[in-house]
Amino acid sequence: MKRPKLVELVLQNLLRKPATIQYPREKTPVEEDSRGIQYADLTKCTGCTLCALECPADAIKMTPIPQGYEIPAKNPKKIYPLIDYLKCVFCYRCVKICPVNAFIVTSKYDIAGPIQINSEEYSLSTVKKVSG
Ligand code: SF4
Ligand code: SF4
Repeated sequence: MKRPKLVELVLQNLLRKPATIQYPREKTPVEEDSRGIQYADLTKCTGCTLCALECPADAIKMTPIPQGYEIPAKNPKKIYPLIDYLKCVFCYRCVKICPVNAFIVTSKYDIAGPIQINSEEYSLSTVKKVSG
């Protein structure tokens, strides 16, 4: 009696789609509003440092906007929050405290591997490059 049931089970499982996801070939589905990487839009950021002070993981370092990038007049100190994603715990306290809503939030979570592990490239891509 037991053997036919076992054969039936094996056949059923052979025809069934795998329960696991072939990550990273297949991406794990995430909710749109899941807390992925976040970075400051430098056209909005005033360099007030509030986000860095609020961060419980000490993951934000206020950093000078490098030469060659347009610096908005509203940012007299010419600094922006550089986020270290290896320290960040994605609590989004920085996002919530920002008085000018400068953070761009994403659902991007796969930050392991040979890509940016801080927000530099993302933030600098929000402002124009200038010559000289
Ligand atoms: S999400 Fe939280 S841990 Fe990450 S940088 Fe913002 S305040 Fe810090
Ligand atoms: S709190 Fe907002 S405006 Fe202030 S430094 Fe952070 S991102 Fe910029």
